[in-house]
Amino acid sequence: MSQQQSEKDKRKEKIKAIVLSLNELFPSISLQTLHQVVLDCNLDEALAIETVIQMCEENGDLLEASIDDEEKEEEHETPECGCDHHDHEEENYEEEEEIEYNEDDIVGEEHYFDDDIGEQVDESAFVEVVKTREFKTKGELYKVLDTKELLQDQEAEVKTAAETLQLKSKVFVECMLKEYQWNTEKLIRDYGDLGLDALLTKCGLNPDFKKSCSSSTIGTCDACYSDDVPLYAYDMCGHVFCRTCWKEYIVNHVKTAMNDNTVKCMDYSCKTTLTETFMLSQLDPKEDKELFEKFFQRKIDSYVGSSYRLKWCPNPGCDGPYAIKKLCDESLYIAQCKCGEECCFQCDKDPHFPCSCDVYKRFLTIAQDDFASKEFIHRTSQQCNKCKRIIFKDVGCNHINCVCGHEFCYICGSEYTSYVHAETVCAPKTVKTSEDIKLFSAAEELYGRFVSLYRRHNQWLEEHKRTGHYRLEIANYKEKFFHIRPTKDLKFLLDSFRNIYRCRRLLRSCYAFAYIHFGFDTLKIKFNTTKKSEKEFLMLETYGYLFNDHLSRLEDYTSDLLLNLDAILNLSLDERDFRSRITTMQGKSHLITNTQKNIIDFINTSFDMKEISYK
Ligand SMILES: [Zn+2]
Ligand SMILES: [Zn+2]
Ligand SMILES: [Zn+2]
Ligand SMILES: [Zn+2]
Ligand SMILES: [Zn+2]
Ligand SMILES: [Zn+2]
Repeated sequence: MSQQQSEKDKRKEKIKAIVLSLNELFPSISLQTLHQVVLDCNLDEALAIETVIQMCEENGDLLEASIDDEEKEEEHETPECGCDHHDHEEENYEEEEEIEYNEDDIVGEEHYFDDDIGEQVDESAFVEVVKTREFKTKGELYKVLDTKELLQDQEAEVKTAAETLQLKSKVFVECMLKEYQWNTEKLIRDYGDLGLDALLTKCGLNPDFKKSCSSSTIGTCDACYSDDVPLYAYDMCGHVFCRTCWKEYIVNHVKTAMNDNTVKCMDYSCKTTLTETFMLSQLDPKEDKELFEKFFQRKIDSYVGSSYRLKWCPNPGCDGPYAIKKLCDESLYIAQCKCGEECCFQCDKDPHFPCSCDVYKRFLTIAQDDFASKEFIHRTSQQCNKCKRIIFKDVGCNHINCVCGHEFCYICGSEYTSYVHAETVCAPKTVKTSEDIKLFSAAEELYGRFVSLYRRHNQWLEEHKRTGHYRLEIANYKEKFFHIRPTKDLKFLLDSFRNIYRCRRLLRSCYAFAYIHFGFDTLKIKFNTTKKSEKEFLMLETYGYLFNDHLSRLEDYTSDLLLNLDAILNLSLDERDFRSRITTMQGKSHLITNTQKNIIDFINTSFDMKEISYK
């Protein structure tokens, strides 16, 4: 009996939780109505939201006044969810109606325009989910630095390493870090393994070097062969050249953006690293002011270019320059620059979860070069040498009579001169096994759809990246309507756009993932007919269907959201219509957040992302 009681309590708790979350989304609809919808939908939150949205669309009055009891009865008699538990719910209803809703939890209409209420849609929620799911790391994953901060950051790196290695000369430490591509951990490890002297030698530095005054002598310069000129020695190795030659050498280095990280001594056989102090001492601060600036610019470039943790923002229109510094050791698949651009730190492309960089690259080759259809044609067809028509043949004789009159062999493509075209004289250009043909036609049929869906989203995303269309439209709208529409709603429009953008980006890479993972790879298993792979295939196929199901949900919600956004931006709506659209959008946004979470959960639980290795 008590167990039954606790079951009932649990159910009540659940109903209450769903009703309250619906109340947040639809604050103008009465709790009784929401409560009833939740029961009608058998406690399915997603279904309940859809039902309420539908109700709002069908009956705009709902938004202004909550329906009274008679109407509620009507609603109840014609449930929209079509579930078959209504009689049962009916019996429990009296009892369950007793649920008390805490007033603090309820979002009422009077609060609706209050800007203090938290955002309805947490735009960063999705990014957060991806981050935590993918990396399971707490704390900052990356930071964005401008040029000034980069110099400070570099100094800080040098300082930390110098302290750990207990070295006084920061100039030396900087040279070593450059040699180690700013991988401090590796430098410290090698310090432990090799000892200081060997480490310094490895980095082109002289361990016995004690700072001494740069001595000048008179003699012949080995670089320009001028006689009786003052020669200056680089103390670390003792090589001497005239001032003009040293300067030319260093200026050359500063001016030409070479990729080498450290600058070596001018003597061609000498591997000694020139320190920054020495190089700067060869320049005149007054005369070479421009060169000094260039020198520091070069220093930053070389820092970003050589550090495996740093990368310039890949956005060509970035208002920085800003560099992204990776703080975590794991791969960083999504990072956002201060200019707003989001990218994959590893490969510079747009974020592409759930694809790995390799899988995404592999898919892009397919999508861009129309690889799939070319490969398909190549594998399953033959081309007439005379008129260049592509001929497909499923069954039947290999003797092809082309419409142009040319007769040729389907296997090797050569002209059919004799009816005894035996296998001995036939030398196939490409081997077309029936397995290949089956595989590619199956892949094309099942998963070619993914490629076209990918392209649809890609086109939209690229178009927007280029034109910034929606951002402009929304800005115009704000300017035009700021006096009659609540600020909160205007902000919500931009949030919704961001939401749509991210959804389409997620969908785009999900289709790429599905094509590679459920397409070719699944089919390869299918045509490999061992018992084990048969099982694997069935499992993958099921996953494929489930995944597709999630994606089409997200497709629907996203296009609904976009449809309403378009309507608000392009049609002159009256207040009631505007409000109804906003409410619909809020509902859809909530569904989108849930679906995104489901997709990410699905991927993370169905596949061990680390174990998927593509070659
Ligand atoms: Zn010289
Ligand atoms: Zn030297
Ligand atoms: Zn940027
Ligand atoms: Zn990547
Ligand atoms: Zn022909
Ligand atoms: Zn032949």
